[in-house]
Amino acid sequence: MKGVGFFRSIQMKFVLTYVLLILFAMQVISVYFVNSLEEKFVTNFKTSLQERVNLLEYNLREEMLKERNDESNTLEQDIRGILEDFSARDITEVRIVDERSRIIGTSDANNQGVVGQRMTEIAIKRALSAGATENNMFIDDRTGQRVWVLTSPILSNSEVIGAVYLIGDIETVFSQLDDINEILFSAAILALAITAILGITLARTITRPITDMRRQAVALGKGNFSRKVKVYGQDEIGELAVTFNNLTKRLQESQATTEGERRKLSSVLSHMTDGVIATDRRGRVILINEPASKMLNVSRETIISQPIVSLLNLEEDYSFDELLNEQDSVILDYSTHDRPYILRANFSVIQKETGFVNGLITVLHDITEQEKIEIERREFVTNVSHELRTPLTTMRSYLEALADGAWQDPDIAPNFLDVAQTETERMIRLVNDLLQLSKFDSREYNLTKKDTDFIEFFNKIIDRFEMTKSQEVTFRRKLPRYPIYVTIDQDKLTQVIDNIISNALKYSPEGGLVSFKVEEHGDTIQISVSDQGMGIPKKSLERIFERFYRVDRARSRKMGGTGLGLAIAKELIGAHDGHIWAKSVEGKGTTIFFTLPADLSEEDDWV
Ligand code: ATP
Ligand code: MG
Repeated sequence: MKGVGFFRSIQMKFVLTYVLLILFAMQVISVYFVNSLEEKFVTNFKTSLQERVNLLEYNLREEMLKERNDESNTLEQDIRGILEDFSARDITEVRIVDERSRIIGTSDANNQGVVGQRMTEIAIKRALSAGATENNMFIDDRTGQRVWVLTSPILSNSEVIGAVYLIGDIETVFSQLDDINEILFSAAILALAITAILGITLARTITRPITDMRRQAVALGKGNFSRKVKVYGQDEIGELAVTFNNLTKRLQESQATTEGERRKLSSVLSHMTDGVIATDRRGRVILINEPASKMLNVSRETIISQPIVSLLNLEEDYSFDELLNEQDSVILDYSTHDRPYILRANFSVIQKETGFVNGLITVLHDITEQEKIEIERREFVTNVSHELRTPLTTMRSYLEALADGAWQDPDIAPNFLDVAQTETERMIRLVNDLLQLSKFDSREYNLTKKDTDFIEFFNKIIDRFEMTKSQEVTFRRKLPRYPIYVTIDQDKLTQVIDNIISNALKYSPEGGLVSFKVEEHGDTIQISVSDQGMGIPKKSLERIFERFYRVDRARSRKMGGTGLGLAIAKELIGAHDGHIWAKSVEGKGTTIFFTLPADLSEEDDWV
């Protein structure tokens, strides 16, 4: 904000008002004063001359009526003497005429020649004939100055015996008035100057606090709360300044609170795990927190003021107004064919008391894991019930047949009982497997690890299978001839290897080859079992380690499998800090690999 220029400031307005007021007052005063003064001066001038003329008349009358002889002075001489006494500064000339208009005396010493001439002025004639006194102001043609002419008759017993003709120098009065005017003018100028200076000082005392407050307000606008207005007095402006300071303090406090709240809110928003999106009342995004932008895989900058419906990809199912009325949470399924990704969105409307909608808050929650677990749980229950139902149904029908009288048939009864026993064993195995997995789920592995020469351990298991195998299958071993020591739970690992080998045998064709291999890789050993069976389709390769997963349900159940063997193997190998995986070419064969950590540096010491 620009400062206010001096000529537009309050101070200037003050001073100007002052000066104009004074000027006006002076004007009025001087007009009135000068007029009355002039009137007074002129009247004084006139009366003073009139009075002197009266006296002069009296003296002249005496002289003009006096008896004269030859020794005595002539009338003209006497009059001249009187006029000499009479002359004064404010009188230019006095002429005396007798009853026949003849000049009998003049006060002008340089103009005595006029004595004896006749005066032709009309005023003289009127004075002589009618005895009238006249006075008039004229401008003297020669000097251009004002003169005052008085004609007055000289009476003796109501008879006119002559007249006085007086030219008064009234200009002296006017020049005096001019002097006074001059004094008045300079006094006025002085007064104005003093007033102006006083005005500026006075105005400054009033405007300074206002200027201060103005500056403070500008600073406030820029967010600077540190300044304070100085309080100069207890008057209204002083009170205003105090109020202004209080206001500043309040503003600062509320600003600090708002800022604090804002910071709290933003840190809460960015540290929460849920995504939060806020929109304005038209559904355009005004705020999105970090988790939300990560969940939706968008950058915060580009998404601001985009419609939320398109951000959430809901255009087909919802309009913004429908979202405002959505009470339940909305499931957003962004899963791709290889990656499940499911979000749950809850909406709450920001509403004023009047019901006016201010915007919408959306909370996003990643429920992919939850959904996955839920699906797994459902599948698990289905699988378990399914697995148990089959043997139970079989057993029921056999037991019914036995109860119906088959128990008496010595040919059938043992056979039926045998089936019932097999199925029972199958169920016991299944329940045991499940129990074992449930223990793994609660991290109860109960491993009793021992240092073991893995080669010897592996060889023994293969030997056992070689002795008991019923098919025509060749075993080939590619194992090191020296011992490799690993720390393992022998029982658990036997279970794993048993399952892998029995799987290989299950799926091996008659006359097939099963190879066993142990290789050293850094500080781990890699064990593999390969067969020449039917193989596993590519899409199932990962899944064979899932619980109850079987590539071909019907066939593997026939082979007595429940699909838990590899799931247990995966848990146990994991508990030994190893990995397990499968490679397979359909129709050619399958290889199951697993690794175990081994202390291979010790080998040298033992050799
Ligand atoms: P269980 O081992 O519990 O008795 P199972 O052998 O069917 O039952 P897993 O050992 O977990 O279960 O194997 C899971 C599935 O993987 C099998 O049903 C089978 O479809 C497939 N599979 C495993 N090993 C092989 C293999 N060597 N050749 C072909 N398919 C295999
Ligand atoms: Mg198996």
